[in-house]
Amino acid sequence: MHHIYCPYCEEMREEEEYSYTGEAHIERPKDPASIADEAWGDYLFFRANPRGIHHEMWYHAAGCRRYFNATRDTHSYQIHETYKMGELPAVTAPTKAALVADKAKATPAKTKAKPKTKAKAKAKVTPEEQQGDAS
Ligand SMILES: [Zn+2]
Repeated sequence: MHHIYCPYCEEMREEEEYSYTGEAHIERPKDPASIADEAWGDYLFFRANPRGIHHEMWYHAAGCRRYFNATRDTHSYQIHETYKMGELPAVTAPTKAALVADKAKATPAKTKAKPKTKAKAKAKVTPEEQQGDAS
């Protein structure tokens, strides 16, 4: 049983009291009549489906009956935070640009890091060797 913190009730409550209502921070186009059909379709039907950090809207159906946002890891199901409507999340996923920059930084370091990987592999073997020696 998961427990979720409601930012309005200020309590941890059982997951059964809540309903997931979709992705958070979806902004309605200011003038729907002036945008292309494709953009309107994207707004209505297409949502992010990340593996990892995701901002979602939840409804406390069996409690205060208010909507709030949560930052949840879709891979581990861990909820990192919940926050009131209109507030911004403290936990955010790294942006694509940041990931690309990290990869670019990591590439030259990888050549230097190769001996470290071997050292780690040796460290992983060591406990197995110790178990082997003990038996
Ligand atoms: Zn509540």
